[in-house]
Amino acid sequence: MKYVEIALSVPLDKTFTYTVTSEQNPDNVPLFGRRVLVNFHNRKLTGYVVNESDTTDSTYQIKNVEKVVDEKPIFLPFMLDFAKWISSYYFCSVGEALSLMIPRGVRPKTLPVLPLRTEPPVTLTEEQQAAYDGIKNDLQHGQKMFYLYGITGSGKTEVYIKLMKDTLAAGKSVIFLVPEIAMSYQTLERLQAVFGNQCAVLHSGLTGSTRLGEYLRLFNKEARIAIGPRSALFAPLADTGLIIIDEEHDGAYKSDESPRFQARSAAFHLAKMMDAAVVLGSATPSVESWYHAQKGFLKLYTLSSRYQGAMLPEVRIIDTSTLSQDRILSPEMANEINRRLQNGEQVLLLQNRRGFSSCLQCFSCKTVIECPRCSVNLTYHQGKKKLICHRCGYTSMIPMSCPECGEKKFKKIGAGTEKVEDEVRRIFTGMELVRIDYDTVQSSKNLQETFRRIYDGEIKIIIGTQIIAKGLHFPGIKFVGVINADLFLNIPDFKSAERAFALITQAAGRAGREGERGLVMVQTLNPDHYAISIKDGFGTFYTNEIFYREATEMPPFFRLIRLVVRSSDENAAKNECEKLRKLLDWLLETMPNEDERKSIEILGAAPCLLTRINNNFRYHILLKSKNLQSIRKIVKQMTKKMERLPRNCYLEIDTDPADLF
Ligand code: ADP
Ligand code: ZN
Repeated sequence: MKYVEIALSVPLDKTFTYTVTSEQNPDNVPLFGRRVLVNFHNRKLTGYVVNESDTTDSTYQIKNVEKVVDEKPIFLPFMLDFAKWISSYYFCSVGEALSLMIPRGVRPKTLPVLPLRTEPPVTLTEEQQAAYDGIKNDLQHGQKMFYLYGITGSGKTEVYIKLMKDTLAAGKSVIFLVPEIAMSYQTLERLQAVFGNQCAVLHSGLTGSTRLGEYLRLFNKEARIAIGPRSALFAPLADTGLIIIDEEHDGAYKSDESPRFQARSAAFHLAKMMDAAVVLGSATPSVESWYHAQKGFLKLYTLSSRYQGAMLPEVRIIDTSTLSQDRILSPEMANEINRRLQNGEQVLLLQNRRGFSSCLQCFSCKTVIECPRCSVNLTYHQGKKKLICHRCGYTSMIPMSCPECGEKKFKKIGAGTEKVEDEVRRIFTGMELVRIDYDTVQSSKNLQETFRRIYDGEIKIIIGTQIIAKGLHFPGIKFVGVINADLFLNIPDFKSAERAFALITQAAGRAGREGERGLVMVQTLNPDHYAISIKDGFGTFYTNEIFYREATEMPPFFRLIRLVVRSSDENAAKNECEKLRKLLDWLLETMPNEDERKSIEILGAAPCLLTRINNNFRYHILLKSKNLQSIRKIVKQMTKKMERLPRNCYLEIDTDPADLF
C-alpha cells in the first residue's frame, strides 16, 4: 500500500492524503502525475497525484482512492511547479490550477490530420527580415522578451513563422496563443499549412477526448507546437523555447473565472522557468505592455507598413450630434456605403451591441425595464420578440404595460445590430447581407462557413459586433463603418478608453488590406475624444492614456488586487465585505515595515458598479500599491486569518483585474 497526496479542484489551499492498494497498482509503479478518482465528502472527484510515500503522519482516517485513472503519468513535474505559482499569484488551490492544465477526457481521440499544403515560398519583406534578424541576434545575447508592434496587415505572422522554425530546428517546442480560436482560424490555417501535424490545437471547445488526444500528442512529442487560446499556455511541453502571444492586447487573455489568470503575465513566468523567449504582438498594444516596452523590459520591433505597400485606411470622424435620434446612418455614411456597393465592393459595419435596442422605456413615466436579477437594462430583441438580459440570460416577454404607471406605449432606445440590420436592409434592398453576433453564430463551423462566403465575395454587407473586428483578412473590403463608437466609452472603467481605441483601430484595420487605400468612417458624439479619434495612431492615444493612468494612480503605475464578496443576501454581502475591510486594516496596521505600510491603499468596502448580477449582490474592496508583492502578502494573510464566510457568500480574489465593474 502507498500513501498519495492528491490535489483536488476545490477552493481549499491544501492537498489530501489517500491510499492506493497493491491491487489498484499491481506493478507498483510511481504514481506521480496520474489522475485518480476519489470520494471527497460523498462527491466523486478527479484528483491529481502530486506526491507519494510509504508512511504518513496524517492523523485522519485515510480512505482508499476509488480508482487510478491513468495507466501512465499525464502531467509533468514542471506543471506542478507552474500550478503552484498560479495558485499563489492568483489565489486559488493547486488542484484548481492543475485542473486548468489537464484535460478531462479518458479515451484520447485526435483531430483529423490535415494534408500539408504546398505553399509558395515566402520571402520576408525588408522590415520583416529586419525584425527577425534583430530578434535572432538579441536571443544570442540573452535578451528573451520581445514586442512585435506591427500595424494591421503588416505580416507579423510571417515573422512568427520564421522564429518558430528556428525554435523547432533547435529541438525546442513552441506555444502559440491566440485570443479565441474561432476568430483566429486564418492564423491557425496558416500555421497548419506550414507546420502540418506538428501543430496540436488545445481549446475548451473540443470534447474531453479530443482535447486529451491533442494534449497527449504534445506530451509524447509527436507534436511540437501547441496552438490555442489562453489555456494552451498549459501545454505539457517541458522544453518550450518560444511563446508567442498574438493580439496580446485582447481581453480574452484574462480569465473571468477563478483562477483569474492573465495568460500574458503567466507566460512571462513560464518563460523564466524554461529559459524560453516570449514574443508579444499586436497593432494596438495594451497600455501595460507598451509601458514595459518603453521601459526596455520588452525589446521593441516595429513593422510600420503593410505587406506589398497597401496603405492604412483613411479615417473620417463623423460627428453625429446633429443626427436625429432614430437615424442610424449619417448621410455621409449612407452615401459612401451606396457608392461602394455600386462599385461591387463589400462593406463592413461594426456595432458593438447585439439585439435591437438597448432598452425599452415607458413613454410617459420614463421607467426603463430592468432585469429582475441584475442591475442592468433588458435588451429588446426583435427577432425573438423578447427582452433579454445580456448579463444573466434572463428572458421575458414584452410587457403589455409599464409596471410603474400602466402606460401601454414604450420607446425603444439605442440601437443594436438587429436595428442596424433593419435599417441597412431597408435602404440597400436586395443586397446579400449577414449579421454576425452571438445571437446568429451557432457554432464555430457555421462561423467559418460565413467567413468563407465573405472571403469569396458572395456577401456584400457584413454587420457585426467585435467578432468581426478581429484579425480577419478579407481582400474585398475597402470600407468599414463604425456605427456608434461611443458604446465603448459608456462604462466608466480604467480600461474603457484602451478597449475603445483597440476595437475601433482593429475594425479599421479590416479596410483595404490589399490594393487601393481603404476608408473608415467613425460615427460619434465625442469626435475629439482621444480614444475615438484614431487618426493619429497608437502613439498619440498612448500619450494621452498614460498621462491619465498616472494621474489616477492606475495600472501600470499601480498594481491592483480586487476582492468581491457576492451573496443573494445583500446585507450578508455588505457585512462580510466590511468585515474583510476591518481585517485588512488591522493587518495593515500590524505590518512591520512602515514604508511598505504607507505604500498600500485600501478602498471600499463599497457596492460594485454592477451592484447585482444574477441575483447576487456584489460589494468590493480594492487594494492598491506600486508593489504587487506588498498587497499580495496582506491578501494572503487575510485568507489565512479570515473566518469562514457564511454559506450564501462567496469571495472572488482578482490579481491585476481587467475591469472594476
Ligand atoms: P497581421 O497579422 O500583421 O495583421 P498578416 O500576418 O495577417 O498581418 O499578413 C497580412 C497578409 O499579408 C496575409 O495574407 C499574409 O499572408 C500576407 N503576407 C505578409 N507578409 C508576407 C510575405 N513576406 N510574403 C507573402 N505574403 C505575405
Ligand atoms: Zn440579468
